Amino acid sequence: MNYQMEFKRWAILNRRQDPLRYDFAYSGRFGLLLLLVCLLWPAALAQADSPTLDQNEPFVYTVQTDDTLIFIALKYNLNMADIAVANHLRNPGLILPGQQLILPGISPISNPESAERIGEQLHTVQPGETIGSIANIYYATPDDVIALNNLSNPDLLQVGQTLKVPVIQPPLSDPLTWPFIGVTLSEPTIIQGRTLVARVSLAEEATAVVGDFEGQPVFFYRSSGAVYWGIVAIHALIKPNVYQLHLTATMPDGQIFSHAENVKVMEGPYDSEAILLDGSRAELLQTELIQEEREKLAALWSQITPRPLWDGPFWFPIAEDAPRVTSAFGTRRSYNDSSDLSFHAGTDFGGGVGEPLYAPAGGIVVLAEPLMVRGNAVLIDHGMGLFSGYWHQSEIVVTPGQHVEPGDLIGYEGDTGLVTGPHLHWEFRLNGIAVDPLQWTRESIP
Ligand SMILES: [Zn+2]
Repeated sequence: MNYQMEFKRWAILNRRQDPLRYDFAYSGRFGLLLLLVCLLWPAALAQADSPTLDQNEPFVYTVQTDDTLIFIALKYNLNMADIAVANHLRNPGLILPGQQLILPGISPISNPESAERIGEQLHTVQPGETIGSIANIYYATPDDVIALNNLSNPDLLQVGQTLKVPVIQPPLSDPLTWPFIGVTLSEPTIIQGRTLVARVSLAEEATAVVGDFEGQPVFFYRSSGAVYWGIVAIHALIKPNVYQLHLTATMPDGQIFSHAENVKVMEGPYDSEAILLDGSRAELLQTELIQEEREKLAALWSQITPRPLWDGPFWFPIAEDAPRVTSAFGTRRSYNDSSDLSFHAGTDFGGGVGEPLYAPAGGIVVLAEPLMVRGNAVLIDHGMGLFSGYWHQSEIVVTPGQHVEPGDLIGYEGDTGLVTGPHLHWEFRLNGIAVDPLQWTRESIP
């Protein structure tokens, strides 16, 4: 159950937050797409315990049914290319169940467990469940469940079958103490890549309420009286586990009070693909211009407007009869050239050059200019740390500083920047972390 530290969470997450890595995912013009492997999300991230190992001995890993190289690399915090080299894999996209892989450079991980197993219970298999989904419910790995039940063929579960499952004791949320009188989360268990809403009620008004979720600062807005809400980005690659949202209230007399609330995170149902690129494309990833573009955007979305500028669900950025989602948010993507274990940071819409693009909600335009990778780009600040981006436009019709309302024309779909064809890449950033845009169209947040 060493989920937590094996991920070396925040340092790695920050590395993966690199917007460039996400964005290159669809820009095949400069490279040769040799291989595209799409597998249904297998819950493989949680599949095996992280071993404690003697550094002198190579660790041999047996490929599981649903594994891909990116999952194995993610699981053990390794560079996919290093695994490929160590095992002389000519095609890292093709690994087979039962195949043995040396995992290079793996070192013992000291892992304080945040969730301790305290016993067993029974679970009755429901329609549609898999070993992976059942394991998720109990914060176990599929291997745990397989071992507990001596399952010889875990792919053959019967509806109504009873399985032993581990009982774990997650860290308890703090009991509420003054001035905290209520803390609620929008979802008791949240899926990777989603936006979580936290509501905090205090006994009396504070001068400030802030949160910290795995290093992510969360600003809280006072909606009425002493009631506050904040939005938390759940990173699309964060390990499923029980985490804590640390809240701090500063009272008018200067006293500071804190409260920790548990946040359960489950895996998202994201597809996976492995992509092999040629060398020239990989070189391009390193140029200073690209680095500058990344930093420019990061500097913009780190500026928090401390109030919501939107109201209600977001509209689609493209006409109702036009949108075709051509690439979903969250798809895991791995590349041959480096440790770029990444995911698709936005939702892609097809359509065609010249398709009008609209502001989905109220906000302020903070960027409207051509960029090298993202092409003609618009970035809108919606407040509370939330930004929406519109890349690859053929034409931009807004200017920085401009207020927009839902339905305002901002530009036209195009194929500028590093793209294989015309599309809109619609990207949401919350506190710098990419979150699923479509959640915001379906739900009225907060
Ligand atoms: Zn995209």
